[in-house]
Amino acid sequence: MKQALMKASGRIAATQAAVVAALLLVIVFMAVDHFPLWAVFLLAVLTLLALVALWTFRTELLSTRLAVISRDKLLRNSARQARRLHNNDVLTGLPNRTRFRDYLEQQLVTSRKKDNHLAVGILALNNLETIQDIIDDDAGDQLVSQFTDILTEEVPCYLGYVGPGIFAFLLDDISDRKTAFAMMHEIMKTVSKDLVVAELTIRIQVSGGIAICPGDADSATSLIQKAKLAMTNAKKTGAQLLLFNQSMAPDLHKLQLISDLKEALSERKLMWALQPQYDVSTKRVVGAELLIRWQHPDYGWVPPTDFIAWAEQTGLIRQITEAAIEQACLILAHMKAINRSFKLSVNLSSNDLADTDVVKRIIAQTVDYAESLTLEITETALMKDMDAVVRNVELLKTAGIKLSLDDYGTGYSSLEYLQAFCFDEIKIDRMFITDVAHVERNLKLTQASIELGHSLGAIVVAEGVEDQKSAELLIAMGCDVLQGYHIGRPVIVSDLDAYLLHSEQVRF
Ligand code: C2E
Ligand code: CA
Ligand code: CA
Repeated sequence: MKQALMKASGRIAATQAAVVAALLLVIVFMAVDHFPLWAVFLLAVLTLLALVALWTFRTELLSTRLAVISRDKLLRNSARQARRLHNNDVLTGLPNRTRFRDYLEQQLVTSRKKDNHLAVGILALNNLETIQDIIDDDAGDQLVSQFTDILTEEVPCYLGYVGPGIFAFLLDDISDRKTAFAMMHEIMKTVSKDLVVAELTIRIQVSGGIAICPGDADSATSLIQKAKLAMTNAKKTGAQLLLFNQSMAPDLHKLQLISDLKEALSERKLMWALQPQYDVSTKRVVGAELLIRWQHPDYGWVPPTDFIAWAEQTGLIRQITEAAIEQACLILAHMKAINRSFKLSVNLSSNDLADTDVVKRIIAQTVDYAESLTLEITETALMKDMDAVVRNVELLKTAGIKLSLDDYGTGYSSLEYLQAFCFDEIKIDRMFITDVAHVERNLKLTQASIELGHSLGAIVVAEGVEDQKSAELLIAMGCDVLQGYHIGRPVIVSDLDAYLLHSEQVRF
């Protein structure tokens, strides 16, 4: 485009020079006597032709310039549109979470200067999920966009779309919590209308939450988060609308704990305990289960049952599994160095087994200790992506790593899984074992599970053995390995040799 412009301008300049020269010649020749008339006529024709060329080149230059201008405009417009799309939600056209949060942050600065109160209201469309489930996602989109139209018409506040079916409002310059509540209540009343989606009349159902600054939070992120928490509580309790209060804080405590766990993981502050496993045939402790331990600086020991599920939801479990395998390798390397046969069981999360990257990394890391390693998985792990799980189990088996079906009896205890995967070990859940000596049904179920495990060629482990009578019964029933407080509690191991010496003394 630039070249075209330069070419056109060059041609114009040359033609302009030609016209001026021709005109000058005509004037000079006309002034000179005896100059032939035909020559003057020829020069006049040439001048005319040059003028026509000049006109054509000027038009060309103009259209090239126009093309450049409209191209620049187009580029500017698409950049503006890209920015708008980046900051606005595509479905609703409203500011997205980032833009809403940024705007709120600016407003907080102003309201602090003026010493004003500012509230964030969160409104969730309760029936969105149901519409998506019973009709389809398109119907859900229709519901959201029609509801957005109502909101933008009826609500004179700064609005944002901050999550699926979740809208945020900025209620500025409010005098107190009561006013904020009354305003939000009014909004909710106004927008609860009937809508027609996929030829069905749907009554809008919403839940709301409010958080206020100063009081509930000082930053935009925290204010939105607390208003959301209030909304979730309103939804759960059926209260429709709630102001944030400290009783909703346990969930914030949980958020704090997740971030603390992340820190503990990156600073390698998590610890590991070993719980002995007693082999009935050799009458010796032959190995142990590796269990994670976390001592929080403020809350003390946090049980794994309190954080493993969150770690699974937040993806932190990958790092936990990695750390567990790393720890297992250290222990097994020590056992190998002292020429001691030791079987170590490591818990895998249900997410791990479907993740080929995780499985491949485990295989690579444990290549020297594969025959001593057992991975404990629960039935939920098998229910994930069945094809991937089958492939990954195959990889583990080929690498020589053993698989144990943990918590047996608590899930569906599906025979399909027992048929599809050749488990080396079946670990009967402590729910049946702890009172096996007192509850007849548990005794029968345990007996049946031991027989089933043996018939499939697996060894059977009983976990949660808490007393001598249970241990004796399990031995009499043919159980292969016992684990539980009666044999030994999980202990954090600082000296592996001392641990081994101690576990050698365990006898029945
Ligand atoms: P689990 O795999 O079933 O581990 C056994 C749990 O039972 C352990 O609890 C252990 O301390 C407890 N236990 C052992 N013997 C007895 C007994 O005789 N009586 C009773 N009442 N309990 C006994 P812990 O260490 O609190 O672990 C709980 C769960 O957390 C584990 O259940 C496992 O699902 C998970 N977990 C622990 N460490 C890890 C880990 O490194 N990775 C993953 N993914 N999960 C882990
Ligand atoms: Ca386990
Ligand atoms: Ca278990």
